[in-house]
Amino acid sequence: MSRYTGPSCKICRRNREKLFLKGERCFTAKCAIEKRNVPPGPQSGVLRKLSEYGRRLREKQKLRFLYGVTEAQMQIAFKKALAQKGVTGSNLLTLFERRIDNVLYRAGFSLSRKDGRQFVLHGHVSVNNAKSNIPSRLLKVGDEISLVPGVVPSFKLKKERIGERNHPTWFSFDEEKGSIKILTFPKREEVDIPVDVQLIVEYYSR
Ligand code: SF4
Repeated sequence: MSRYTGPSCKICRRNREKLFLKGERCFTAKCAIEKRNVPPGPQSGVLRKLSEYGRRLREKQKLRFLYGVTEAQMQIAFKKALAQKGVTGSNLLTLFERRIDNVLYRAGFSLSRKDGRQFVLHGHVSVNNAKSNIPSRLLKVGDEISLVPGVVPSFKLKKERIGERNHPTWFSFDEEKGSIKILTFPKREEVDIPVDVQLIVEYYSR
């Protein structure tokens, strides 16, 4: 299954919560959830009761859309998380958090993960002084990410529009230089993703 390219706001409306998928618009009164928080579709005022399977599927899709990954990438990540020591759901979130596009977003250098993905694809990012154009690359402890000098001012401009965000402590970053250093792997409690990972584990374990 390919990457979802449809309207992002529809996903938020279906989940009835802000998932911050679109970037700048999410922080304004134009946000669809701020304007009219009802599910999409002709019977938009009707709340359907979901089956157990439906709840698990919805949670899995929410995580998929949040990180902008394909179903194939979800399945690969789940297998990796299952093979690792510890709690599978936490391992899964940690794996997605370590993606370059997510780290750019977390550091405030991009407005959304989609935006961060574009920067990586366009060759504006280096990892350990070597150009990297793979947004799904998983960063390791000690990795240093740097933005090519010309794009740093535009990131800073965007950051001003974002306002202040809570920055995770598992990496350090230098706003002026446009660089990030991974200090440790993220812990579950540091990942403020609004999903019930247990439902996702149950979905893939069925
Ligand atoms: Fe979701 Fe609002 Fe952003 Fe649209 S603008 S993606 S509804 S948070």
